[in-house]
Amino acid sequence: MDLLGKFGARGTENVCICDFKDTGRGLAAAKEFKLHQEILSIPTRICWSSQTANNHSVIGPILKSLDLSKDDSLAIMLMYYKIMSLGFINSDGTELDELRLFHMSMIPTTYANSILLEPADMQYCEGSSLFAATQILKQQVQDDFQYICNNVIKVYPQLFNPQHFSLDLVDIVNLVYLGIVHYLECMVPFMDLFNGAVEVEQCHLYNLQTDAIQVIAGKEYKKGQQVFINYGKIANNRLLRLYGFALDSNPNDEYELVLSTNIGSPNFVEKVMLLKQNNLDSTVNIPMTIQDPLPTAILQYLRIQRASEEELEMIETAMKPVTIRNELEITNALIEALLLVLAGYRYKSGELENLIHTLKAPARYAAIVSLGEQRILLKSLQQAQIHYNCLNCQLCNTKQLGNKKCGKCLLVAYCSRECQVADWKTHKVKCKQ
Ligand SMILES: [Zn+2]
Ligand SMILES: [Zn+2]
Repeated sequence: MDLLGKFGARGTENVCICDFKDTGRGLAAAKEFKLHQEILSIPTRICWSSQTANNHSVIGPILKSLDLSKDDSLAIMLMYYKIMSLGFINSDGTELDELRLFHMSMIPTTYANSILLEPADMQYCEGSSLFAATQILKQQVQDDFQYICNNVIKVYPQLFNPQHFSLDLVDIVNLVYLGIVHYLECMVPFMDLFNGAVEVEQCHLYNLQTDAIQVIAGKEYKKGQQVFINYGKIANNRLLRLYGFALDSNPNDEYELVLSTNIGSPNFVEKVMLLKQNNLDSTVNIPMTIQDPLPTAILQYLRIQRASEEELEMIETAMKPVTIRNELEITNALIEALLLVLAGYRYKSGELENLIHTLKAPARYAAIVSLGEQRILLKSLQQAQIHYNCLNCQLCNTKQLGNKKCGKCLLVAYCSRECQVADWKTHKVKCKQ
């Protein structure tokens, strides 16, 4: 820790590494902290980022000669120090090497990110957005790794001698690469020891004046208590992808519905213009949550997307239904789409509710992600179905936008007072449920 102080870090004496029952390794407060009091400050020049990689005396010139992504640059720097830490290459006396090697020794050897989970664990979220995203990411990481092999490792054997890549080393490098680089543009020494919690305020920030990453107390701490940081409002599918865990009842859980319009569809140009006027795009990701399972933006998008030429001229904002034809069509399409998404889940929500108590992490985390998404989708489906029902008069089946909902249950609607009165005998049973 003194090493960090030598390079301008402040406050490493404020915390100590401990093993906690719930979270495993983490940082405990070495003294009392008031809310917002500074705990730690780490200068950015000792962080690992694509910028520090590009400025590195040995690998910087190599990186600059290639057209690499930030992720790849950082990965190469990590590999360089991994190989150095294993004794295959010597430090050329770069000032920060000692610190880098120290940090390298502190990096965990295993991660629980979704891309590193075994298929036996991942199967519990098959069909979820996390499962799909993980497949894509896995392929991307493999492609990137292949590119680095061909363009760096094989080209600079004196630094990255392919012989050093015994199976072991490839595994380690893959872990470092998969686990960290694809998510964090910057690795901050020591900071990676903090665990996350939702109940503390957001408390890590970049301080422009000191050019340092700073951690302040997100709540009051007594000596010995674990210090947490808040990763921000993150849904379970992202938590498992980024940090390797999921929360049982995550208040920030969401399912992102992707809506897109084919460039060849009729009146494409007009529709895109109208979408843009309404802060939407031809492809949008709209988050659905348990509190708001059917956001107006989804209906608004669909109304524009599925409008006929005549309807297009009537639309300004599409915040409200345009015509009964349009509204029936979009609601129907939405219901079908939601049913299709739900059918894709390998384990259905009912099954998971029972299973979840018998599963151990990380399989349990995968199940939590799947269950959370399905709960939101089911609620969304239910609301779409109610919306659809209310476009039809419950008694005479007249389809119109002006149907009035039953004021008690809001689940059915009628074209007229007469129809409502006539249907009451039948409806009152359901209405009272
Ligand atoms: Zn009627
Ligand atoms: Zn009713």
